[in-house]
Amino acid sequence: MPELNERQATMLAHILNNIRPDWTINSIITLLSKNRTIPSFADLTIAAITKAKDPTCKTPAPIMLPGKHWPETTRNQIPTGPECPDHTGHPANTCGPCTIDIQLGDRPPHLHGKKLHQHKRNPPHPGWRNNPTPTGSTTN
Ligand SMILES: [Zn+2]
Repeated sequence: MPELNERQATMLAHILNNIRPDWTINSIITLLSKNRTIPSFADLTIAAITKAKDPTCKTPAPIMLPGKHWPETTRNQIPTGPECPDHTGHPANTCGPCTIDIQLGDRPPHLHGKKLHQHKRNPPHPGWRNNPTPTGSTTN
């Protein structure tokens, strides 16, 4: 399957933003850059414009979901990609729970399909500095 290039993604983002001013160019490019493997640019454009004309479609994310907005010949070729790190069983590129989080304001749009607390780590246990090398790990 062909790969979407940067120029195509930018052009399509501008077209969609003209149809849907509430879909920012950046959010569309982010979505497209996460879904570079496509059946064809023409089919992606048809699917994207169909979704943009759908007033019930609030974000561009559903463009990449399989469905009737894709031409019949390529409908079954939409790659699902890796799983969302925050929502087991949902592909990262089309994660529905992430879309809902964004609509509720609980998740910034650039973290769609990404770990929400990427840099949050558990603190080390108290006294970790005082512990010598673990027992049992002997040197030869
Ligand atoms: Zn998710």
